[in-house]
Amino acid sequence: MIDLRSDTVTRPSPAMQQAMFEAPLGDDVFGDDPSVNGLQQQACELLGFEAALFAPSGTMTNLIALMSHCQRGDEAIVGQQWHTYKWEAGGMAVLGSIQPQPLVHQPDGSLALHDILAAIKPDDPHFARTRLVVIENTTGGQVLSLDYMQQVQQLCKAQSLACHIDGARIFNAAVAIASQQQQDPYQVARQLVAGFDSISVCLSKGLGAPVGSLLLGSHEFIAKARRIRKMLGGGMRQAGVLAAAGSYALAHNVQRLAEDHQHAQVLAAGFNEAVAQHQLQAEFSCHPVQTNILFCDLSPKLADFLRQQFTEQGILCTAGSYQSADGQRCRLRFVTHLDVSLAQIQQVVAVSQQVLAHYARNNTRNNARDNSAVL
Ligand SMILES: *Cc1c(COP(=O)(O)O)cnc(C)c1O
Repeated sequence: MIDLRSDTVTRPSPAMQQAMFEAPLGDDVFGDDPSVNGLQQQACELLGFEAALFAPSGTMTNLIALMSHCQRGDEAIVGQQWHTYKWEAGGMAVLGSIQPQPLVHQPDGSLALHDILAAIKPDDPHFARTRLVVIENTTGGQVLSLDYMQQVQQLCKAQSLACHIDGARIFNAAVAIASQQQQDPYQVARQLVAGFDSISVCLSKGLGAPVGSLLLGSHEFIAKARRIRKMLGGGMRQAGVLAAAGSYALAHNVQRLAEDHQHAQVLAAGFNEAVAQHQLQAEFSCHPVQTNILFCDLSPKLADFLRQQFTEQGILCTAGSYQSADGQRCRLRFVTHLDVSLAQIQQVVAVSQQVLAHYARNNTRNNARDNSAVL
């Protein structure tokens, strides 16, 4: 099987399992687990924060951050497509009594600074108290630049707002920037997050750990966050068995994200070549790839056919349907990760070439014959 649904599907490698097996353990609710403490310390040093907290998921580290920054009746400025707003079951509103103020994105995935400024509410009893700005990087696989991150952070300081990064894939952003500029990805990561009050980082995506996310901030912030983690049921006991995987991931799996980015480029180039060869541009287009996520917009008919053939060949991706200027479209998402090799990516390209060739042949013959079972 070639599973391109998400980078969350990665399994711990033998070396990572060995690290988990050998991890010294204690009770982390008492603060006694050396492996959890070690991971938190390691992350602080890597990213330049005072304190860190290990939690079961990125949804939880984001919610803990929101609830630590905001009181009941406060407001957080978010993007319409941010994970914190759209993909976390409304947790900030349901569990935090925090009002989200969503903003429409720019094409590069960012929130325009003037939109953020315009959304900040005056101190007036009619309004919720604007308290926090959330920025997501990468967002939909797009990298928000160092300049942009610094501008947001300065805007927040000037407006006395807190600022949080949903950095589930912050190391993908850092590696993408670092490989363009021949820099150290850890150093770029530190620059990306500098000046922000908090960040949440996923260990269980491209970094390849089985479970876990980190929240980083000041000592005072993390002390609050620790109480909220307990309240939400995220206090784990001998969590070092998981933290050891996270430590291994931070030490060994950051630089290699560049391979995933290259694989996503190979996939996009392969699709684009097949599309051009069979003149299917009106029915299949790829979004530009910056990191490890490739989105493709297809006509529903071609998308159904391609997905059916992919499924038969053991190739998995995710799909969503939406309305665009070109009418109904199906958006496929392919995510590369450390459990997918270059050979497997080439296999996906080869299958797509055969499928598109067949589809184009049938279309030009204007043949309504069933497209199934061609391969
Ligand atoms: C995956 C993800 C999260 C957290 O997801 P969990 O599955 O809860 O760990 C948060 N933000 C973004 C942008 C993500 O992609």
